[in-house]
Amino acid sequence: MSKRDYYDVLGVSRQADAAEIKSAYRKLAIKYHPDKNPDDPTAEEKFKEAAEAYEVLSDPEKRARYDQFGHAGTSSNFGGGAGMNMEDIFSQFGDIFGSGSPFESFFGGGRSSRGGRRVPKGTNLRIKVKLTLEEIAKGVEKKIKVNKQVVCRTCNGTGAKDKSSYHTCRTCGGSGSVRRVTNTILGQMQTTSTCPTCNGEGIEISAKCTTCRGEGLVRGEETISINIPAGVSEGMQLSMSGKGNAAPRDGVPGDLIILIEEIPHATLKRDGNNVIYDLYVNFVDAALGTSVEVPTIDGKAKIKIEPGTQGGKILRLKGKGIPEVNSYHKGDQLIYVNIWTPKALSPEERELLEKLRNSPNFKPQPGKSEKSFFDRIKEYFE
Ligand SMILES: [Zn+2]
Ligand SMILES: [Zn+2]
Repeated sequence: MSKRDYYDVLGVSRQADAAEIKSAYRKLAIKYHPDKNPDDPTAEEKFKEAAEAYEVLSDPEKRARYDQFGHAGTSSNFGGGAGMNMEDIFSQFGDIFGSGSPFESFFGGGRSSRGGRRVPKGTNLRIKVKLTLEEIAKGVEKKIKVNKQVVCRTCNGTGAKDKSSYHTCRTCGGSGSVRRVTNTILGQMQTTSTCPTCNGEGIEISAKCTTCRGEGLVRGEETISINIPAGVSEGMQLSMSGKGNAAPRDGVPGDLIILIEEIPHATLKRDGNNVIYDLYVNFVDAALGTSVEVPTIDGKAKIKIEPGTQGGKILRLKGKGIPEVNSYHKGDQLIYVNIWTPKALSPEERELLEKLRNSPNFKPQPGKSEKSFFDRIKEYFE
């Protein structure tokens, strides 16, 4: 089930610019076009694979997300979606081959070269999902009730009042496209364009359904179960293909776009894939050593404070951080040791401390073994 790397699919380097990507895709689209390879069942798969890779790598925002998160960061790999359909792919072609080029009439006009009408497409639906740090660390399945456009039950999505008011388009005879023959220097060329009467759908409606006013769609609710992979972060977008708004007339539903939001944790802070905890110990514990419990995203952990611990020390719990999306690599939990100095003192406490004030071991004597603040920060980033 593993997907091929998009750069490998197009056969370009990760540094390839927009022109290289476009040119690589153009070559593959011509090579694997299903109409040109009727006897090769793998051609359509390769054609779709190339289109999907191009769809992501040609969009700077999607490409950046892909570079950072791999397939999980892009729309088509989330929730087991089927990737791009042929409609999406053909709609890219005006852009790839340029309008008016021979390729446009060869490939263009939706699926007209294969005799199909335009399939209505539902719009994308955007929702926000709030996640706790624990949910982000482990990945989570969320069941979310969404308000969306669903198929009208009265007309079954046709948008027509009854069967007699739903019929084949008279302008195009149901094909969804009209043909035109033009003379060019290369000889006669036949071009096809979308039928203006039915907008390419191939049907006409003479009386509209009163429930949905001819839209074929009404507002409704659906509970959608969303599998969120571990390691996602604030602002990341995931998408589930086909889970967006429905389309009328047996069309293709849109996608559900899920925007990730993080709920701040009460005691832990996230920094990339690391989790940070500020620990306070009083200077007696720091001097004598002790063991303390600290919260982690996975319950509590006991850690040891060595005798003579200085403030600013950073302790590391390896692998107790957040996993990277699509990877086995995990961040760490970092514990910043802060020395707590009492802010108020009783007369007895004051008396005890006064006795210690001039004690020889209480005089600060930083030596070579004390790491500087700068060194500690550097260590943390390594
Ligand atoms: Zn028509
Ligand atoms: Zn209806």
